[in-house]
Amino acid sequence: MIRAVLFDVGGTLLREETYLLGTTWDERRVQRLREALGRDEPWFPAVARLPEPEEHEGQAHRQETRIWIRSLLLERGVSATDEEVERIRAACCVPSLEGERPRDGALEALRWCKARGLKVALVTNVLWRTAAESLADWTARGAADCIDTIVTSLDAHWRKPHPAMFELALSELHLTPPEAVMVGNSRAADVAPAKALGLRAVLIRSAEGSTSETQPDAVIDEMTELPAVLERWL
Ligand SMILES: [Mg+2]
Repeated sequence: MIRAVLFDVGGTLLREETYLLGTTWDERRVQRLREALGRDEPWFPAVARLPEPEEHEGQAHRQETRIWIRSLLLERGVSATDEEVERIRAACCVPSLEGERPRDGALEALRWCKARGLKVALVTNVLWRTAAESLADWTARGAADCIDTIVTSLDAHWRKPHPAMFELALSELHLTPPEAVMVGNSRAADVAPAKALGLRAVLIRSAEGSTSETQPDAVIDEMTELPAVLERWL
């Protein structure tokens, strides 16, 4: 009955404690900015710690990373072309492999989905990462052939829990909500919006502490448990 699995990335496929590397990666972003631009600028640390506002121009969950970069530079009297903003964004996108590690069973779960003929989408809130850069991360892990499409909030201009993130993934897979299950570690950003659209939802436990009235269809502690859950819905 289900034909696709949508996976959250941070805290779901990747271990949460490695996904939130905080200041370590701020410093790495500054280093990459120096390399990409071939100089040092006093605003590098501020860009590396770019805030993620909850809303943009009054729209909740709207994401406009490139506009936020440009605004931060303008506040410091620096104007940048679209091309320069894009180079800054790309420099701040540290390859996942440098620090993030998959959860137990994550790569095996992706391969299991592929082997069972299920479509796989990654549906991920990010600040810096395009789908192409995310795919490069999974290519480096040897799992790119398991992934049919990637929707990042940077590309979509919306962040989960906004329904556009899930709708885009389903549209790219040419599937309807009842044909898909969302697997995520956030009750608020993954489970509730997916269920509201008519998808099934599996919650994977993590330190993420968001709450929701909406109950998931299944709860797992590790990705190693996912195949047995999905088997019931095939
Ligand atoms: Mg997550």
